[in-house]
Amino acid sequence: DEDRKRPHAIFFPYPLQGHVIPAVHFATKLASAGFTITFVNTHFVHHQISKSGADGRGGDDIFTASRKAGLDIRYETISDGFPLGFDRSLNHDQFWEGALHVLPAHVEEFVERKVSSKEKVSVLIADTFFVWPSTVAKKYNLLYVSFWTEPALVLTIYYHLHLLRSHGHFGSQDNRTDTIDYIPGVRAVEPTDLMSYLQPSCKDTSSICHRIIDKAFDDVKRADFIIINTVRELEEETISALHQTQPTYAIGPIFPTGFIDSPVATSMWPESNCTQWLDSKPPGSVLYVSFGSYAHASKPAIHEIARGLLQSGVNFIWVVRPDIVSSDDPDPLPVGFEQKAREEGRGLVVVWCSQNKVLSHCAVGGFLTHCGWNSILESIWCGVPLLCFPLYTDQFTNRKLTVDDWKVGINLCDGDWVIRGEEVSKKIDRLMRGETAEDLRVKIKKVKKVLEDAWAAGGSSETGFRQFVEDIEVKINQKSK
Ligand code: UDP
Repeated sequence: DEDRKRPHAIFFPYPLQGHVIPAVHFATKLASAGFTITFVNTHFVHHQISKSGADGRGGDDIFTASRKAGLDIRYETISDGFPLGFDRSLNHDQFWEGALHVLPAHVEEFVERKVSSKEKVSVLIADTFFVWPSTVAKKYNLLYVSFWTEPALVLTIYYHLHLLRSHGHFGSQDNRTDTIDYIPGVRAVEPTDLMSYLQPSCKDTSSICHRIIDKAFDDVKRADFIIINTVRELEEETISALHQTQPTYAIGPIFPTGFIDSPVATSMWPESNCTQWLDSKPPGSVLYVSFGSYAHASKPAIHEIARGLLQSGVNFIWVVRPDIVSSDDPDPLPVGFEQKAREEGRGLVVVWCSQNKVLSHCAVGGFLTHCGWNSILESIWCGVPLLCFPLYTDQFTNRKLTVDDWKVGINLCDGDWVIRGEEVSKKIDRLMRGETAEDLRVKIKKVKKVLEDAWAAGGSSETGFRQFVEDIEVKINQKSK
């Protein structure tokens, strides 16, 4: 009976920061709702994240924080098949090959051990990008919850890849380039707004990423539940259409309860505190620039952005990870740039910062972003309009939602995404000053309100989450009979 009260789920997040963080928040929510969660990171991710918490600042890491809150979350680790020192970002393809061929065996071994122990595990929660969850769930008689950390639009496009193929928008040598209007719940999307792997310009469709996509989005069709870190009101039609095929719940944005204040470190990079610097700047005058935790930009693009920033005269904080161009090129900025910015008192270049703290500071008036989904949600939550520079994967599709649908951002480049300093400077100006800026601020306030309402008691995300918990408990009880 005790087990009925505390369902036990094993949770496998995808071993990338942008996936692990929302997964921890979701696990925390579930644990608060009475679940026991065994949260399984790879050794590498765990090492990265806990190292940053223990780097002398005395802060907690994201794991110790939930443990301290007295929740029943047990953090465990498995190997992804590579040594800790292996550069996963530099050896991207090998890393993904490992995720496809090596990780599943480690997962299975782990699950086998758990279910044959005394602990009554009844649920498997796994990131939608994994290829194995339905097989493992079936083998060990577990309910399978697919956890999706990107917008519903992106999920549904992958989900209907067969339609893109049969209509000639993907997979042939000369793909169609006209509007796609046949995906259930998606009125219209341009091929250039598809995820990078599916765009007409992507000729190699048998890469490791494509093999993973094919398998993973076939696998998700056997999930008992799909959870999405999005908001129903923002993607109403898409979510409804998905829900007609499988039980789908929009429960986003999944943020920690103390969005800004939670003293958790989340990265392998040493974090800079930008608050004091921001305190000295007028409200709305600072542009925050960051390309997330993982994406790479080309060196020429970085140099053009640097030129544009100086030309624009705007104040800025720029997160330049040492591997932003490549781990082999730790010196990506133009010579003298940082010094010039610092001397003029205008710019701060950091390796990492607490993004939420920065975005929620009143001095920040714009965000030049790579359009990672977490970054977009966080920026809207803080009411900061976006300047969009998508680099790869879902970022192009996220841009479409942000700029074309919700109108809370503008594009960094027109047309071809070839980036030029003059244009960067012009766009920064439009984002931060004048009529467009004013208009964006009005629009983003409205969308921010949608997010807040969804999250509040009785809102769609809060209700969605409660409904999910209710529905899965019914299924668990049915199964245990
Ligand atoms: N982030 C941060 N400090 C930084 C840069 C990024 O805390 O200096 C966080 C950011 O708040 C977000 C995550 O890292 O939660 C990046 O996720 P996103 O989905 O935007 O991009 P990804 O890293 O997955 O490409």
